[in-house]
Amino acid sequence: MAKRDYYEVLGVSKNADEQEIKKAYRQKAIQYHPDKNPDNKEAEEKFKEAAEAYEVLSNPEKKQRYDQFGHAGLGGAAGGQGFGGMNMEDIFSRFGSIFEDFGFGGFSGGRSYSSRSRAVQKGSNLRIKVKLTLEEIAKGVEKNIKVKKHVSCKTCDSTGAKSSSAIKTCPSCQGSGYTVRVQQSIFGAMQVQSECVQCQGTGKTITDKCTDCVGNGIIKAEEIINIKIPAGVANGMQISLSGKGNAAPNHGINGDLFVLIEEVPHNLFERDGNNLYLEHYISFPQAVLGSSIEIPTIDGKARIKIAPGTQSGTLLRLNGKGLPEVQSYHKGDLIVNINVWIPKNLTKEEKQIVEGFKNAENFKPKAPKQSSFFKRVKQFFD
Ligand SMILES: [Zn+2]
Ligand SMILES: [Zn+2]
Repeated sequence: MAKRDYYEVLGVSKNADEQEIKKAYRQKAIQYHPDKNPDNKEAEEKFKEAAEAYEVLSNPEKKQRYDQFGHAGLGGAAGGQGFGGMNMEDIFSRFGSIFEDFGFGGFSGGRSYSSRSRAVQKGSNLRIKVKLTLEEIAKGVEKNIKVKKHVSCKTCDSTGAKSSSAIKTCPSCQGSGYTVRVQQSIFGAMQVQSECVQCQGTGKTITDKCTDCVGNGIIKAEEIINIKIPAGVANGMQISLSGKGNAAPNHGINGDLFVLIEEVPHNLFERDGNNLYLEHYISFPQAVLGSSIEIPTIDGKARIKIAPGTQSGTLLRLNGKGLPEVQSYHKGDLIVNINVWIPKNLTKEEKQIVEGFKNAENFKPKAPKQSSFFKRVKQFFD
């Protein structure tokens, strides 16, 4: 099913500011809150959809990518898990505080969600750089990259305890992971929960720690991560892979992995957006007599016609021979700047031939009609 536009989900305009977005999300979240809609699957879906939209639009980095590339910019195209995996626990643990202002318990008043009320820990995000050649960018590429990160400790199954008997119920919160206070709100007296300080919301304490991870539940390791990079990406762009960052203890939520694109300069082509520029030299006879020449393109070769009497500085445009736009069928162009090669070292015979043209009328320069290179480049796009 096609994903709905996040702005549409929250019912705000694309120009909505942070406060408007927060307010809109809060309204939706309260409208579809599971406490108000018990056993209502549709409301739950709406609740999740709104959280997903808010997750993106409340994060300047993600919002920017979404504005620029739509859903595709958020890792769906990069083979990431997207946000489809966001469950109720994630939503309450990330955005729980938004309900508290309205008196809803962050964890739904300890009723329908009491069994899930323990805070879910979240691993931190990771950032890596990936160097790409223009050829890779032109086609899109799949990379397997070794990433140093926190992974679950297998010895203790991410619990941090030496054995299951070393895991005890937190005496401070009796295992609930939260403490409760009563607050007056627009809905009347509401129970408001906050995370238990002693166990950081896990509801447990460990009496004998796992020696491999010294009780952390996570260890440092190297992992090969497969990253699918769509064609057309540019220097400085980021691809997010949801859940590919650091692991959290107790099977918590993994952090995200952000992949920063670094473009390796090409020895032939210069990039401007999706267009490519190529400086190409032709010989003096080719320029004078006209010719059919072969030029390199980003994915092979192309044959172009040089008209008789072609001046140095003539720009030729090859439609669609540039770089693709991310998530689009549109392709940029290849613009070739034709230069005429003037030889420096001539044999005696060559010199004689050229000298023969010295006073020839047709070889005398005429006043150039062409403006400067950059002006002409600009004119190309006007
Ligand atoms: Zn506790
Ligand atoms: Zn361990």
